Amino acid sequence: ISLAQLINGLLRDVEDFPQPGVRFKDITPLLADAAAFGACIDELADLPGAYEADVIAGVEARGFVVAAALARAVDAGVVPVRKAGKLPPPTLSARYDLEYGSAEIEVPTGLLEGKRVYVVDDVLATGGTLAAAIDLLSRAGATVTGVGVLVELSFLKGRARLDGHDLRALLTL
Ligand code: IMP
Repeated sequence: ISLAQLINGLLRDVEDFPQPGVRFKDITPLLADAAAFGACIDELADLPGAYEADVIAGVEARGFVVAAALARAVDAGVVPVRKAGKLPPPTLSARYDLEYGSAEIEVPTGLLEGKRVYVVDDVLATGGTLAAAIDLLSRAGATVTGVGVLVELSFLKGRARLDGHDLRALLTL
């Protein structure tokens, strides 16, 4: 079977989480499966932009898991993109709209100037989070070499918010 099929078989649909009307894709079973998780990291490492990165940026919190593993595979470092208030200063922050309300994320400054950064997360939904992360990394002086996710929920059209960036997904739903 293909990697996409393998991933699909290890996702769990959770109805009405985190709010009523949302069908959440739980990737926990995928991360817990040694062969599947390893295959995902190997595949991400082969995507355009990953190998030439100096650092992998992962979005809190499941993106950290992907970022750390991928960083080892391509011999890169890791930079966290965190929810506001978690990182010590100096940071840059961006506020962005969610389906309901808004959120704020931050990156550390000083580490990113002149760095080539590959950006990862577990799931691309509306794209607001990754668009804000890319904006912050660019403002911090980094060059984004590409964007990789395990799963893209294409019906939410998040890809449209990342225009100009090479977004790849291991599974598109
Ligand atoms: P977006 O900003 O709407 O693209 O939401 C993306 C963020 O929310 C990512 O950091 C994901 O981890 C998380 N997210 C959204 N929907 C799901 C889902 O169905 N499963 C797992 N994570 C999700």
